[in-house]
Amino acid sequence: MTKLTRQKTITSLQAILIGRRDALRLAMEGNFDDLFIPDRHDHGDASAEGNGAEIASQLAEVESRELIYIEVALERIRDGNYGICEMCECEIDLARLQALPYASLCLPCQREVEKGLRRTNPQVG
Ligand SMILES: [Zn+2]
Repeated sequence: MTKLTRQKTITSLQAILIGRRDALRLAMEGNFDDLFIPDRHDHGDASAEGNGAEIASQLAEVESRELIYIEVALERIRDGNYGICEMCECEIDLARLQALPYASLCLPCQREVEKGLRRTNPQVG
């Protein structure tokens, strides 16, 4: 794998990330417009209205989290350290970046983190 190939792949991932970021921003605006219009006519279905708002806020939470990951990835591309694992500082596989363009950890480190999270429990000692 030459540096040039890697750089070309990162450039194409940057375009994908920017497209995804713009789509997420639009989707989030759309959600808020569609789901948070107050119904002024009657109060017949207050519970359904509540659920809609709850689902919308959960969706917005997932989308805004993804948006943050994408912004961080784009910043790292600008800084020239995109695709470098934050834990072991190796180069993350291009295949992994293509599957998950905002990945900040290589696969072995990601697995370690997930193992650690699963192991965490209150009965330490
Ligand atoms: Zn790593």
